[in-house]
Amino acid sequence: MLITEDAKQQDSDPSLRYSPEQVAWLKKAKAFADTIPIEDVIKSDVENSFRRDLFEKACQEGLGALPFPKTYGGTGGDYVSFCLVNEEFARRCVPIMSSLGVHVLCQEPVSRFGTEEQKQKYLVPSATGKYLAAFGLTEPNAGSDTAALETTAKFNGDHYLLNGTKTFITSGASADYYIVMAKVVGEPHKPFPPAGEKGTVDTITAFIVERGYAGFEIGQKFDMLGMRGYSTCELVFNDCKVPVENTLGDPGQGRKVALSSLAKGRVTIAAQATGWAQGALDGLIKVLKDEKSKGLFDDSLNGLASVVGELVTQVDSARVLTYQAAATIDLGEPDNTLASMAKATATDAAMKVSTEAISIIASLGLQPELLIERIFRDAKAGQIYEGTNQIQRMLIARALLR
Ligand SMILES: Cc1cc2nc3c(=O)[nH]c(=O)nc-3n(C[C@H](O)[C@H](O)[C@H](O)COP(=O)(O)OP(=O)(O)OC[C@H]3O[C@@H](n4cnc5c(N)ncnc54)[C@H](O)[C@@H]3O)c2cc1C
Repeated sequence: MLITEDAKQQDSDPSLRYSPEQVAWLKKAKAFADTIPIEDVIKSDVENSFRRDLFEKACQEGLGALPFPKTYGGTGGDYVSFCLVNEEFARRCVPIMSSLGVHVLCQEPVSRFGTEEQKQKYLVPSATGKYLAAFGLTEPNAGSDTAALETTAKFNGDHYLLNGTKTFITSGASADYYIVMAKVVGEPHKPFPPAGEKGTVDTITAFIVERGYAGFEIGQKFDMLGMRGYSTCELVFNDCKVPVENTLGDPGQGRKVALSSLAKGRVTIAAQATGWAQGALDGLIKVLKDEKSKGLFDDSLNGLASVVGELVTQVDSARVLTYQAAATIDLGEPDNTLASMAKATATDAAMKVSTEAISIIASLGLQPELLIERIFRDAKAGQIYEGTNQIQRMLIARALLR
């Protein structure tokens, strides 16, 4: 069985909401997902194995650099289209969904802050799938609090020496290059920007680190409850020699580089979580319809109908916020507060819908073929990464109280 068959009947007409170009990308994502048997989806989850072949195939379909201009190999689509692809991939638990999201997240800062040489060297092969990118911000002692970073970078002639450990890095064990944030100790190769309001100089700097650089190693690989099959691991830097031309942006701009990608990344996560919520709902509705046809379930039961009605409403609320946030990106005025709202709302909706679906259909909901139990596990992780939902709510409040 292919993973699409049961989901098809839940689709409303997308042309009522999206432009012909956006619908074309959605169709492409559906066609791509249609080629992946459910057995493969389950295998990647059970074995915790990454499907590099599928990633490369998706890039060849133009999905690896969808929202970037054609100048450096991008496809020239808009962010709404990229979100539609992510929603569809998450809905079917396509085994490359998260790696593709992070891959695009990493191209964003190269596209915005990179030199011409960096763009040619990293963006072009990223678009074709020759390179897979990963994003290294989190450390064992620095998650939500990025100021606590302990990875250091010391300028040494024509290169920097990086020391430290990054943790929970999606695609870490499979990537070809990494966007890595580290604190420069000593003098940088170019002066830091002047001290900020609090009188401190920000030394966090971004680097592009290639997998083959001396002093770089893959550390512990994680065997997690959710988000399995994405090569999530530690990155270890032991006097890792990074050429000075691989500094991304200027010294001291690292936080700006990281936050610029995360702001868009949160909209991508929101789209993925909307897909998870829809996927869990698809599974629930399928079982309820089956049971109704066998006379096992009566949809005039008001209690159950009202729960299902609430779940459907939560899925569409997540979708509305997500695509509004994506539209602000396409208008050239990304609304970071809306992005935070979308990320928190959609991941909470995915958690809620998958939890309720399992409660309603009980043991059936734990069967992997319905994808609900996988979505339940992935949604929990979605509430945590790229800024926990508690942090998103704090950012939303801060924007109002500023
Ligand atoms: C599946 C997965 C994939 C990931 N992929 C990547 C990746 O590719 N690259 C990367 O760099 N990182 C990645 N991460 C790391 C992720 O971004 C961090 O886990 C996340 O930022 C939270 O950090 P933490 O786990 O250290 O939790 P902490 O920051 O230690 O938070 C613990 C708890 O305290 C709360 N908290 C913390 N500070 C505050 C505050 N000021 N106010 C209120 N509450 C607060 C949090 O909300 C949370 O509930 C990934 C994580 C997961 C689970």
